[in-house]
Amino acid sequence: MKLPVCWKCNRSFKYHELLTFSAVKCPKCKERNYVTSKKRLQNALYTGPVSFLGSMTIIHSNINPAIILIFLILPILAFIPTNYKFTNKVHG
Ligand SMILES: [Zn+2]
Repeated sequence: MKLPVCWKCNRSFKYHELLTFSAVKCPKCKERNYVTSKKRLQNALYTGPVSFLGSMTIIHSNINPAIILIFLILPILAFIPTNYKFTNKVHG
């Protein structure tokens, strides 16, 4: 799994360092890394339909919501940080 790198020093982020919704601070060069708006949009496009589909399935079926959460929503959420691309601009 390829993880995103710091825009300044190219240090590869560890997965747990990416579990944030705001800027990530690079441990090596201390620069703030912002997710590019293009990637934020892309990630929203992934999560939107999946969350919608997930909640529809929960409402209209007898499947345990926990199962949907574990097998559908969590894998997408887990995948999203790996799809980040960083910039030095807040609205890059
Ligand atoms: Zn860095």
